[in-house]
Amino acid sequence: MKCAIISVGTELLMGQIVDTNAVFLSRELNTLGYDVLYRYTVGDNDGRLEQILELALNDCDMVLTTGGLGPTEDDMTKETVARFMDDVLVEYLPAKEWLLKAKERRGKTFTDNNFKQILLPSKSTVFPTQVGTAPGFCCEKDGKYVICMPGPPREMTDMFKRRIRPFLESMQDNVIYYRTLRIFGKGESLVETELLDLIDAQTDPTIATYAKMCECSVRVASKRPTLEEAANAVVDMCGKIKEILGDCVYSDEDEDLAEVVGRKLIAAGTTISCAESCTGGMFASRLTDVPGISEVFERGIVTYTERAKMEELGVTRSVLEQETAVSPTVALQMAEGLAAKTGSDICISVTGVAGPSGGTGEHPVGQYFCGCTYKGKTIVKKVETHHHERDFNRYHAVLTMFDMINRLLEGMEIRSGKDIWGNQ
Ligand code: ATP
Ligand code: MG
Repeated sequence: MKCAIISVGTELLMGQIVDTNAVFLSRELNTLGYDVLYRYTVGDNDGRLEQILELALNDCDMVLTTGGLGPTEDDMTKETVARFMDDVLVEYLPAKEWLLKAKERRGKTFTDNNFKQILLPSKSTVFPTQVGTAPGFCCEKDGKYVICMPGPPREMTDMFKRRIRPFLESMQDNVIYYRTLRIFGKGESLVETELLDLIDAQTDPTIATYAKMCECSVRVASKRPTLEEAANAVVDMCGKIKEILGDCVYSDEDEDLAEVVGRKLIAAGTTISCAESCTGGMFASRLTDVPGISEVFERGIVTYTERAKMEELGVTRSVLEQETAVSPTVALQMAEGLAAKTGSDICISVTGVAGPSGGTGEHPVGQYFCGCTYKGKTIVKKVETHHHERDFNRYHAVLTMFDMINRLLEGMEIRSGKDIWGNQ
């Protein structure tokens, strides 16, 4: 079923509040197997709301609105929708009783604008509210539906979960199930090329690739009569994709690499420390985003200058002079110096040229080295990103550090060839 979301509220147009309702509804509708074709935002104005309803229902079978159901003068969604759907507003008795009782309890008088809240379109399906005072409703005309919900996110999401989701499920023949594979080490175009045969042959499940900062993802979705059928089809397809893409797929649950690694470290009780140069603490920061990481994260040191590398990690002056700070030996000495100091199971280091300037022929912008000690061995990985953006290079280095750890923990190969240097 094709649908549109209309967010009603002048505050939204003025940028005073962020439209979180539309994001929530998009996600929910998507998982339910409804295609969201449009999202509109309109102020508290009945003429313009009517125009948008007209426009949206040209292409869509259903419109969902949020906002403007309250008791005040500017709340006009209900009146407009009723008129648009050739219906009239009538007193909805259960709401009237409820409101009268509430008033009695709170000892307030029954004002005219409260009375407005118990009026609903006469032919609508009503969705009572558990959180606020304004009920939601669904009107139907000529096979087209308009569902109206209150604006406050707490009221709207509660009503959606309790009342509207089951209602939508009962109208739907199919359910959607999807998974998102996360990939590091292969770009979107390479991923798409490798999956081309599968993508070309796709009807259901569908396969879509997305580029993210320094990584990419593949979303596999299936729409079937039952959840079990859809899930089986998706799991099956994910298996095929993983076979093709290999071990650069690090999650099929749409998790961040830091999260995946952090969870594994905690589960295995493997302790870790890091020494960072060009990433300036970003690795430690991402690692500490993982709840419970204090069980295994011993320390993170930012050694930016040569002096810091020598004092904190025992990097030797001669190596710095002969090979410069951005070199495999310095990465190795940083990791080994940290291991000697901390005794952590894993000690990881990074040194590189983040850019945008400061590159040389031998050490171009985007070149970095990661060192890692684990089980008595040290490996160093060399990477050249060929990018000039500082943010990109730093984030890339952080992901490489996590990727190296993930691979070591899983006993996987750290990508072979010239990228490797060390005594692995
Ligand atoms: P009320 O009974 O509170 O008047 P209502 O259904 O009339 O509810 P609005 O008056 O449009 O809804 O909005 C009430 C409040 O809900 C807004 O001030 C805002 O804080 C929040 N809100 C409304 N729409 C959205 C939205 N799309 N995203 C996030 N918050 C919203
Ligand atoms: Mg209001």
